[in-house]
Amino acid sequence: MHLIEIYKSVQGESSFAGLPCIFVRLAGCNLRCSWCDSEYTFSGGYNQSLDEVESAVAALGPTRLVEFTGGEPMLQAKELIPLMDRLLTLGYELLIETSGERPLADVPTHVHKIVDVKCPGSGESGRFHWPNLDALTARDEVKFVISDRHDYEFARDFVKEHELTGRVGNVLFSPVFSNRPSTERNASNCTLDPRLLVEWMLADGVSARLNLQIHKFIWEPMRKGV
Ligand code: SF4
Repeated sequence: MHLIEIYKSVQGESSFAGLPCIFVRLAGCNLRCSWCDSEYTFSGGYNQSLDEVESAVAALGPTRLVEFTGGEPMLQAKELIPLMDRLLTLGYELLIETSGERPLADVPTHVHKIVDVKCPGSGESGRFHWPNLDALTARDEVKFVISDRHDYEFARDFVKEHELTGRVGNVLFSPVFSNRPSTERNASNCTLDPRLLVEWMLADGVSARLNLQIHKFIWEPMRKGV
């Protein structure tokens, strides 16, 4: 597998936010979202066998929650899915963060899929792999990263049109966080004010969870490996 880093921190997003978690960050992405905070995954990295990744995860124990992220981890599905099967057999609880552009039907059902639907402001809207809607279950979460009112309305309407609240455990609305932030550990680095987003959600009665990237409030936003 081609990797960028494996490290332990606190989960910053989703309904698992706040839990200790081991992150396996895979290299490479085929999208170029305008607000991407992971551009350092586009090149470089190192290779490890499945045995070596499994050992690196075990060495960070006793945490049993593991997230695969990137980049786009599903670009390495051929290696990733057997690794997921191995770790599930060993009793780990697994998450995958994915852009939603790659097919997800082969991801083991016990893995919690956190799937993006890219809004217009990302510049990558329209890349969603539509059959993924049928691969979603109550274990899974769908995330919209929202840069402005137009994105918000896109997300609100998508949730309603595709009845997402009945398909998945959580729908996440996440305000865009600057990819050139200051060192301040506060909401001034959100390019859409979370307060405004919450006001819109409440006004429309949207059944979604506000998703702040809490690791960017705990540590300096540009810090890596946390
Ligand atoms: S899919 Fe993720 S890693 Fe890829 S460009 Fe978009 S935000 Fe960055």
